[in-house]
Amino acid sequence: MTLLLGCIADDFTGATDLANNLVRAGMRVTQLIGVPGASPGASPDASMTDVDAVVVALKSRTAPVAEAVQQSLAASRWLCAQGAGQIYFKVCSTFDSTPRGNIGPAAEALLADLGADFAIVTPAFPENGRTVFKGHLFVGDQLLSDSSMRQHPLTPMTDSNLVRVLQAQLAHGTCGLIDHRALARGVAGVTERIEVLRLEGCNFAIADATTDDDLRILARAAAGLRLVVAGSGLAIGIPALHGLAPNAQAAQLPPATGACAIVSGSCSAATNTQVAAFIAAGGDAFALDPLRLAGGEDLAAQALAWAAPRLPKGPVLVYATAEAAAVRAVQAALGAERAGALVEAALARVAVGLVQGGVRQLLVAGGETSGACVQALGIERMRIGPQIDPGVPWCHAASAASGPQGLHLALKSGNFGAPDFFHRAFAMLGR
Ligand code: ADP
Repeated sequence: MTLLLGCIADDFTGATDLANNLVRAGMRVTQLIGVPGASPGASPDASMTDVDAVVVALKSRTAPVAEAVQQSLAASRWLCAQGAGQIYFKVCSTFDSTPRGNIGPAAEALLADLGADFAIVTPAFPENGRTVFKGHLFVGDQLLSDSSMRQHPLTPMTDSNLVRVLQAQLAHGTCGLIDHRALARGVAGVTERIEVLRLEGCNFAIADATTDDDLRILARAAAGLRLVVAGSGLAIGIPALHGLAPNAQAAQLPPATGACAIVSGSCSAATNTQVAAFIAAGGDAFALDPLRLAGGEDLAAQALAWAAPRLPKGPVLVYATAEAAAVRAVQAALGAERAGALVEAALARVAVGLVQGGVRQLLVAGGETSGACVQALGIERMRIGPQIDPGVPWCHAASAASGPQGLHLALKSGNFGAPDFFHRAFAMLGR
């Protein structure tokens, strides 16, 4: 079977967000952590036979430009070797980048490598408040350049005009605009506009989109393009192009087994609320104190010894989650980086120990924390299942620690999820 869509995401949680949207719209999706080792041109991976789309998660958003280009090309070539009909380069919905890249250089390299001459570009995702009008990106009711992204530590976005932003990143190409007037004329309007831009010598065009219907029109008009560059929003229109509609089978995972646990290293407001709600509802919880970790105490071992007798009843929570003032105090004492690294390492050991001890349903809260746990668990690929809350699906993955039947895993980035997220997530799996 041919892979309908090959996706390359420039960060880990962005990959899951995209995969989640594709599954909701009816595709069966596997997410890979990095590019598999297979050499380009190798025969298709036999385990990819029962999926419609594969999302390769990279960590290339803020990597050096040459590294981002090389990783993106490796992913694209691997996906093409699996028969991918179209490559979807997933970027941040706030178009996180700098004048040097990495969106422009990676997109330009992909376009050339695919032998294509034109791609549409849109970070729009109206459901999440990201809209593009006359090439300008809005975050909620604010222009991107008036939003908090203006002060982002790594990729400050001070210009909302995406045509200008992308053009500044292109070495050879030219960026045009598919504006709302073309969208108002439907698929034919967009297709005609693409032809005009091609004749004018454009290789990329920022596309306006303020509604889900706009995204569906763009997906249809781009169906024949080898490359699209977008946030996760455009994905809502792609499965329908292949005759797929939302269906429960797309999100089907093996039956859940084993004990339940939560590992939380996120200190975001939503996670603090979720941890408090879990404890208030009588949940068993073990707090990891970063200062005691720094003092050399083996809190991971203590947490595992504490958890072992409680697992049959479960779910248990092991957390370093703390309010902002407490985090600041820890960071003042240890330095933010050292505190983060200590906590991540301890929680990753806890995650592995829990799975070795019989946990087969594991929730991880925190983007960096998720990365540390997935790496420690040796997870290379995840099948994407049903959505718990927007942006967070249950997944199923094989890990050396879990044995052949694998485990259910949900990776929640900081501010996602309603207050009762933890309990509701396990209830969805029948606990
Ligand atoms: P989020 O998705 O909410 O940003 P992350 O896991 O990406 O969560 O980042 C949280 C960071 O804070 C991690 O590096 C984690 O190790 C660190 N951390 C967690 N708890 C504490 C704490 N109590 N004090 C200081 N740092 C902490």
